[in-house]
Amino acid sequence: MGHILDERQMQVSVAGKDARTIDCNKVSLAGSVSQRACVFCGSRVVLYPIADALHLIHGPIGCAAYTWDIRGSLSSGPELHRLSFSTDLQERDVIFGGETKLYNAALELIRKHNPKAAFIYTTCIVGVIGDDVERACRMLQDETGIPVIPVQAPGFQGSKKDGYKVACEAIFKLVGTKQKSIPAKSINILGDFNLAGELWILLDYYRKMGVHVNATITGDGRVDDICNAHSAALNVVQCSGSMNYLAKLMKDKYGVPSMRVSYFGIEDMSDALYDVARFFKDDEMMAKARQLVKDEVSRLIPELAWYKAQLTGKKAAIYVGGAFKAISLVKALRLIGVQSVIVGSQTGTPEDYELIKKLCDEGTIIVDDSNPVELSHFVKEKQADIFIGGVKERPIAHKIGLGFCDHNHERKEPLAGYEGMINFAKEIYATAMSPVWKFTKTSPSPSKGGDVR
Ligand code: SF4
Repeated sequence: MGHILDERQMQVSVAGKDARTIDCNKVSLAGSVSQRACVFCGSRVVLYPIADALHLIHGPIGCAAYTWDIRGSLSSGPELHRLSFSTDLQERDVIFGGETKLYNAALELIRKHNPKAAFIYTTCIVGVIGDDVERACRMLQDETGIPVIPVQAPGFQGSKKDGYKVACEAIFKLVGTKQKSIPAKSINILGDFNLAGELWILLDYYRKMGVHVNATITGDGRVDDICNAHSAALNVVQCSGSMNYLAKLMKDKYGVPSMRVSYFGIEDMSDALYDVARFFKDDEMMAKARQLVKDEVSRLIPELAWYKAQLTGKKAAIYVGGAFKAISLVKALRLIGVQSVIVGSQTGTPEDYELIKKLCDEGTIIVDDSNPVELSHFVKEKQADIFIGGVKERPIAHKIGLGFCDHNHERKEPLAGYEGMINFAKEIYATAMSPVWKFTKTSPSPSKGGDVR
């Protein structure tokens, strides 16, 4: 495979043909132009959905390009998280230091916006010039009386995954700082970022089951709820790549157990509800969960059967941030007759990739921390009809002349839960079957929707 750099050969595997464990969990290879983002971006996507906090980026203005809208997390209340603030460091600050500028900017913003907490993100240049951001945050906290939390995230320190860890450490500084009485059967939802309002669908399911949701970390997040997150009986963790570490910190210090779930696709969504009911050993809760699943699934099956009939024979390429999401997508696509021929992630673990290998059909390409050259080659080689990914995968798909489904940053329709499954089927159908692919250079497989030229 000439399009794969020698040093990356072990990060690609083929299901059913390759017995070795995929090499992963490592820094990206210099020069490979990885699809991964930097440490700062990783921390920012996790923390920004805390809607009543101030988020200030200490660095040059370019880093602030990672604004709210690269992952449009919705809020049911305050929307301070949608404002992007930067200290806009200039040459003079780099030479003489930017601490005073940071202190003055943060103080002015806190006084103006009255947030419940402030997160101060450090970027590459701050890591180089060595501003004492911890000290500035302590002074700001003393002055304003709100938690002012440094997020030590210089981009060069590692990968996006390291940014997740930094964000978990920042959140953990809030956990346990307030005590509020909550019902015994309470959970925290970790790792749902409320894209297109998905969290609200989940809240409705849990409410119907009689489960109290304490803190949502961090979609539609609130500082006070996070401060009291240690009071919940269970952490239910989706997007485990970003939130497993926080769950571990909370288990070690406060004894809060956790479980890993996914809310994508019928099977995983139903398991998530059943697992929570099983955890509380509550027969009534389990009966409500069963009824909910029965009602939703009986509504969905006829609709999904129609999509399956139309889409059978189509092939999909999946490249997403977390491998757990990739696993759910493989199952959800199978439900509508679509075969996954490429499955990759930015942050998967060896266990995740082993699971993907077992789940996928023989010949599926499985890849860790990929880049545009590899992905383009794989898509052409496997003749995928549709690419499912995030904002950085869209141009790859469109340059090849392939339909694209955004399952991450830019979507406006919820794809989680049962109604999310229908939205997903609709989107895959509308994209893969569009007649426009008849006119693209690299047309998909010669089934309905696009002839090969
Ligand atoms: S790599 Fe460094 S300079 Fe680039 S966005 Fe990330 S923190 Fe900013």
